[in-house]
Amino acid sequence: MKVILAKNSGFCPGVKRAVDTAKKIYGENVCILGEIIHNESVTDEIKKLGTKIVDGVDEVDRDTVIIRSHGVGKNVYDELNEKKVKIVDCTCPFVTKIHDIVKKYHELGYKIVITGEKDHPEVVGINGWCGGDAIVIDENYREIDLGESEKVCLVSQTTYSVDKFKKILEFFNEKTFKTLEVFKTICYTTIERQEEAEILSKTCDAMVVVGGKHSSNTKKLMRICQGNCENVYFISNPDELNYKKFRNYKKVGIVAGASTPNEQSMEVF
Ligand code: SF4
Repeated sequence: MKVILAKNSGFCPGVKRAVDTAKKIYGENVCILGEIIHNESVTDEIKKLGTKIVDGVDEVDRDTVIIRSHGVGKNVYDELNEKKVKIVDCTCPFVTKIHDIVKKYHELGYKIVITGEKDHPEVVGINGWCGGDAIVIDENYREIDLGESEKVCLVSQTTYSVDKFKKILEFFNEKTFKTLEVFKTICYTTIERQEEAEILSKTCDAMVVVGGKHSSNTKKLMRICQGNCENVYFISNPDELNYKKFRNYKKVGIVAGASTPNEQSMEVF
């Protein structure tokens, strides 16, 4: 059996920076706003170091707060500053760039539209830089009601599907706005991983997708693989894989989400 591990495996730069920081700055004085990444084994490791994971600012009862790579809205920084805690900001620079775009265009009177998952922390954070006033669209994009808006600014969650974004952009281009500003903010590592998943899944008998069950980018890789391959196994941990099932496959591909540690993909490999 031939096994091919996607070249783009392991942490993306944004996740790596956040995880490395959480391993350097830890202990009883430190908390993280949300899980550092959507990966159980990494989250457990961080918790064992004594760092507390909190769901919101009101739960912050330690001196130092780590903001993870997904970023947060402006209101969260304001509330943390009011609490006078030390902020260790691990927001990925690609996400910060989106914050800057939506802030600027919101102030210029544009209606902000985000393609992404409404409740995903990254999207909630982006929306927090344009007064919570953005419209978030996904599959439902044809139902969008922009009211009287003549100026529209379109951005995307960094891990959004490249194909879906293309379709939405075509739809927007058919509409007649006075001004449409489009920012293609899907991150390059997302694009590379999705392209690799597409190519591999077209040529393999089976695909293994490794990543956290709540990881948005991993779930997208799974959907891409399912579109091309009948035998797709989504696992969050190498122990979950029943290797006996693979006896009859000639070629197996392995892809991993941006929040999957390299060791986990290597273990499967
Ligand atoms: Fe940053 Fe891209 Fe990783 Fe998101 S997927 S954390 S935008 S590098």
